[in-house]
Amino acid sequence: MKRKGILVVVSGFSGAGKGTLMKNLVKTYDNYALSISMTTRQPREGEEEGREYFFVSEETFKEKMGQDGLIEFACYCGNYYGTPREYVETQLEMGKDVLLEIEIQGALKVKKKYPAALLIFVMPPSAEQLKKRLAGRGTETPEVIEKRLCRALEEAKGIESYDYIVVNDDLEMCTRELHSIIRAAHNAVGRNEEWIENMRQELNVLVKGEK
Ligand code: ADP
Ligand code: 5GP
Repeated sequence: MKRKGILVVVSGFSGAGKGTLMKNLVKTYDNYALSISMTTRQPREGEEEGREYFFVSEETFKEKMGQDGLIEFACYCGNYYGTPREYVETQLEMGKDVLLEIEIQGALKVKKKYPAALLIFVMPPSAEQLKKRLAGRGTETPEVIEKRLCRALEEAKGIESYDYIVVNDDLEMCTRELHSIIRAAHNAVGRNEEWIENMRQELNVLVKGEK
């Protein structure tokens, strides 16, 4: 029986290493589809249209929202971010595990709309390391870094809404751990109800000759 993929939501403080982890996961294992979000923020140096994000104007973003083309959206530090619907739904149907790397407000909206979604929170090894990574990335001004750290303090209040946390200390180890959590989720009883029911029916036919 062909199984549908799992919708995997990955959140974490800015600078925790979510983007790095997602790229490593997709590179290391098959069966993942990474959703590319739409954003109104400006591209950072080295970012490419359609690879990290679809970079759009506020007008285009709102147009997409109006067409129900986003499964969720949120405003983060002054910019809009949203997940295009079509890619997510077609990839799930094809049996791919779809990765959404999104912040907490969006994550909670996804959980409401798709209760079977798996929510994972990426932690840095320490708050000090988080600041170092954020500064070391060299993509934001000191003011934006401060804003993002303040936002982290807010986001930390919502971690209990997630199903799992992983600590991104060693990148390879964290990638393996993330993959194991997702593999294990495929075997959860609640995600296999149809398969279980089919087995009951097959047994009925075999033992009693009835459908
Ligand atoms: P996020 O997407 O969560 O904002 P990034 O993936 O951009 O974070 O990572 C932030 C910075 O930390 C980058 O410079 C990245 O190279 C670095 N980084 C990510 N993971 C690790 C790790 N496990 N160990 C050390 N540095 C890391
Ligand atoms: P950044 O500007 O660092 O790329 O992203 C800022 C924050 O927005 C991160 O926490 C990232 O996970 C989140 N984000 C990226 N895409 C989306 C999206 O489509 N929806 C929501 N809700 N958050 C997103």
